[in-house]
Amino acid sequence: MTGHRSRRIRRAGILLACTALILTACGTTRSPLPFNPAPRPAENASPTPQASTQQPNRNCTDPRRSLRPHGPLPTPGNIPAGVLPAAVLKNRYLRVGVPTDAVLLGAMNWNTLQLEGFDIDMAKQVAKAIFGTDEGRIQFRAVTTDGRIPALENDDVDLVVATMTITCDRWQKVDFSSVYYESGQKLLVQQDAGFAGIADLAGRKICAASGSTSLRTITRLVPTAIRVEVPNATDCLVDLQRGQIDGISTDDVILAGMAEQDPTTVIVGSKLSDEPYGMAVKAGNEEFVRFINAALEKMRTDGTWKKIYQRWLGKLGDASPPTATYQD
Ligand code: GLU
Repeated sequence: MTGHRSRRIRRAGILLACTALILTACGTTRSPLPFNPAPRPAENASPTPQASTQQPNRNCTDPRRSLRPHGPLPTPGNIPAGVLPAAVLKNRYLRVGVPTDAVLLGAMNWNTLQLEGFDIDMAKQVAKAIFGTDEGRIQFRAVTTDGRIPALENDDVDLVVATMTITCDRWQKVDFSSVYYESGQKLLVQQDAGFAGIADLAGRKICAASGSTSLRTITRLVPTAIRVEVPNATDCLVDLQRGQIDGISTDDVILAGMAEQDPTTVIVGSKLSDEPYGMAVKAGNEEFVRFINAALEKMRTDGTWKKIYQRWLGKLGDASPPTATYQD
């Protein structure tokens, strides 16, 4: 290993160790709490919308199908009663479960000490739709991949925006928004390892997050591979740098963030699966899902989605917002 590369790896290791330390010490990454409360969003409320008659997508003929918005996004202050979860009304801020170590998606910027990335900006748009601003109106909480659904079930967060693939299994436990990003699983290896695709890793060690769809795809495609599970996919990067594993297989955008941190790694092979990302809420908040979908519709049409994409993921190529599919 060259001195240059080992220095770089040491730096990456220290950065990851710092991230781990902060998350262990604090458990939660908070943005400032509101000190000058805005009017309660439902104070000027119009009547409660008709409760939906259909269970949202539990039969799941198409996991991408979410609940149709009632119409255009209502302005803050005109959000009908019954739309926002009780905790959001009480707290007057939105608690969002996000990744905090996934560069490009949700990670700490050590210069500004703010979380930043595509998922972070998406979550801020929901807070903005509710309160008119995200300033002081959002509290980010670090969630592990396997901890996303429990965080909603235990009412620790109001919303999860955390590289979460919409699947039929998960629809049985939580409600999803329409697709806000179309990701896909790929493979990351050391540049000099000589692996061209996932099939080359038969009998070798492949790392991914516990509870992720990535692990299932690894087993399906390379049954002889030895699966190494970690709490968050980014934890795999240090293992790869230490030579303890042979590859990391998860969503292309998560891998792109790792490759950016360690240029001795490379993404190889073709796309292994479709991973449509959705925002998740606790089951039973159907009106909130319709509201989030109206916010996403607005972002798709007014250029906000494109702007956020360009800012964080534009280097991966051009993309358009995913088209939503709905049930009534
Ligand atoms: N999108 C995949 C999932 O939801 C992987 C996400 C991750 O590793 O955090 O399971």
